[in-house]
Amino acid sequence: VPCRSYAVAKQDQVARFKGKTGSDGKYTVTLIEGDGIGPEISKSVKDIYSAANVPINWEPVDVTPRLKDGKTVIPDEAIQSVRKNYVALKGPLATPIGKGHVSLNLTLRRTFNLFANVRPCKSIAGYKTPYDNVNLVLVRENTEGEYSGIEHVVVDGVVQSIKLITREASERVLRFAFQYAEGIGKPKVRVVHKATIMKMSDGLFLSTARDISKEYPNVEFDTELLDNACLKITTDPAPYSDKVLVMPNLYGDILSDMCAGLIGGLGLTPSGNIGDECSIFEAVHGSAPDIAGRGLANPTALLLSSIMMLQHMGLNHYADKIQNAIFATLAEGKMLTGDLGGRAKTHEYADAIIKKL
Ligand code: NAD
Repeated sequence: VPCRSYAVAKQDQVARFKGKTGSDGKYTVTLIEGDGIGPEISKSVKDIYSAANVPINWEPVDVTPRLKDGKTVIPDEAIQSVRKNYVALKGPLATPIGKGHVSLNLTLRRTFNLFANVRPCKSIAGYKTPYDNVNLVLVRENTEGEYSGIEHVVVDGVVQSIKLITREASERVLRFAFQYAEGIGKPKVRVVHKATIMKMSDGLFLSTARDISKEYPNVEFDTELLDNACLKITTDPAPYSDKVLVMPNLYGDILSDMCAGLIGGLGLTPSGNIGDECSIFEAVHGSAPDIAGRGLANPTALLLSSIMMLQHMGLNHYADKIQNAIFATLAEGKMLTGDLGGRAKTHEYADAIIKKL
């Protein structure tokens, strides 16, 4: 079933949603609509979910940052909502460049210790791109690396940004990658790295991977240098279809956008930020300020992120139903948003999906 290849395979997490419905038989999910195109694409998700009778009540929360003791913090109500519901769907949040508050996206990932960022990237049947056989899954370490936020000025004109790699965080995301590969039936895990240059940091990630791979004798394990992976994936993505690629934070961020380009762009790629306690599902793309508020955004990436969320919650029936309607609409090609070469407005595309439910 193609649907399952987006799935987040943590069965213990699926189990925790059992019996967690309210008196109306519905689950509560925290909704962070986000900035820029966030409200527009969130509306599409809400409309489609309501038409598909998905048993979910949305709990919208405001994550406008507050400063507490000089640090950016997320409002308590938002944190409590995610903790209570175990799960959130999140639109993009804009980050000021170079100054201002630290990234809210990073803050959310750190607050909930969302250690694994799962980014599946699959060709969309019927949508023409140079390749029609992309079927990759990237797992990105989500809490440290170059994104550890440890930066300082040494002297005027000299700064240091620390790339932090720990065995503990590496073990956690690597175990997740092996379990995920087993769960979705991919036989191989490949670590993407640059340990030739980053001998200590990527070296630790790599040696930890070698140790962890021994715990999973049924999953094949190998390694590839990041630059080589970029060249090979863009030359022929087919050999990557049987693999889960796992890597430190920054590499995963960049490589997943590159892969998004192969299937039709950022409007199509979903992701899940997975932690032990809670998980947050969001599109790979950002707030797209260049098209915000004009009804031009493609909601597919957020919709597919919500499909991952439904699978994570064990609501596979609804995941299949909505996903099939999305893919049928895209394959028909009549109602595509501008990023895919069409002229449909966000809400017209959502209506077309609703008609196919
Ligand atoms: P972006 O992903 O917002 O946009 C890049 C390009 O892709 C733009 O041309 C945009 O119009 C297009 N695009 C993105 N999503 C689209 C969609 N759904 N439909 C149609 N076209 C789409 O990247 P950016 O412009 O570099 O970043 C804008 C802001 O978003 C920044 O503040 C950045 O920090 C933030 N950001 C947030 C997240 C997140 O919330 N997880 C991720 C990436 C960037």
